Amino acid sequence: MTNTNRKAIRNHLMHTLSVLSGQDTNEPFVLENCPDETDFASQLTLQGVNLAVRKRRTARIMELENALRRVSDADFGECEECGDRIGLARLKANPSARLCVHCQSALEDGLNRCA
Ligand SMILES: [Zn+2]
Repeated sequence: MTNTNRKAIRNHLMHTLSVLSGQDTNEPFVLENCPDETDFASQLTLQGVNLAVRKRRTARIMELENALRRVSDADFGECEECGDRIGLARLKANPSARLCVHCQSALEDGLNRCA
């Protein structure tokens, strides 16, 4: 991988992290006093969705921060399963990718068989 590619991926990671970090409001969840059970159930559902979105965002931020730490490593861009190069297009689309397309597909096929 060239230094230019590493720099482009690093910039992409930093931009994406900045965007994701700016989306978190850190507002506490507060259930308002609702005499109407339907409104209360709606609030509860909405808070559940908000919590799931926050968890997903936090997990994504952790993935991207991990990729940012690894981007300068000599083996960045190598598949952790087979050691082949992860395609540059794949890394540009998903810099936190740790597996090549083939190994990722095999992993997902294996996961799908168990489901
Ligand atoms: Zn692989």
